[in-house]
Amino acid sequence: MNSQLDKERSPVERRGLLLVLSSPSGAGKTTMAGRLLQSDPLITLSVSLTTRKARSGEIDGRDYFFVDEQIFEARRKAGELLEWARVFNHSYGTPRAAVEDALEAGRDILFDIDWQGAQQIAEAMAQDLVRVFVLPPSGPILEERLRARAQDSDQVVADRMARASDEISHWGEYDYVIVNDDLDASSAALQAILVAERHKRDRQMALPRFVRRIQESL
Ligand code: ADP
Ligand code: 5GP
Repeated sequence: MNSQLDKERSPVERRGLLLVLSSPSGAGKTTMAGRLLQSDPLITLSVSLTTRKARSGEIDGRDYFFVDEQIFEARRKAGELLEWARVFNHSYGTPRAAVEDALEAGRDILFDIDWQGAQQIAEAMAQDLVRVFVLPPSGPILEERLRARAQDSDQVVADRMARASDEISHWGEYDYVIVNDDLDASSAALQAILVAERHKRDRQMALPRFVRRIQESL
């Protein structure tokens, strides 16, 4: 039924959107992001720069660009970061060029960034932004998940738990909130949000022409 509209929606004719996922560390946003990226070919992950060390299994250029403080500072000073923040005593930032290239090509972009980054992107590109906050079902379950990841030391887990309440206090700045209890249900909710946001009238740039054509054919 929508085949003509689908043809009209060539990549450059649909406005790309910026989907930001934030949560306290350990709530499951990286897992949910991974599932979304696998199931949806139209969305690309924004790969951040970080000065923290890679966890085992993380790949440079796929999960993060792992850099030292000097390189991070040089990129930041050169204006190459769309947003950046200090999180857990490390620097994290979003490379600007990749985001601009993806948007220009009509692709959607997924960001796994904290509330500070979400606020900075909201200042620069509010119209294209969709913010989703992921909550854990409870504090003890959050701690369990941080430990289950088995990648961080007790001290790192304790630091992340200590920061969780502060991160959670920003939930009201987000458009959608998902309590990540059952992973399948949470992932389905995230996909549904993305699909609904793609159908927003203003993002379907080819729609006026398409509607005119229908009217002419009536
Ligand atoms: P974040 O990116 O928010 O720090 P992760 O995606 O790394 O969190 O998830 C932390 C841990 O919790 C991982 O071991 C992950 O497999 C697990 N996890 C994520 N979502 C769920 C869920 N709904 N139920 C149980 N475990 C989960
Ligand atoms: P982690 O070290 O667990 O991968 O990430 C720690 C926190 O930093 C998470 O809340 C994550 O969303 C956030 N983060 C990752 N990349 C960026 C980024 O580029 N900018 C900002 N502002 N936060 C980021």
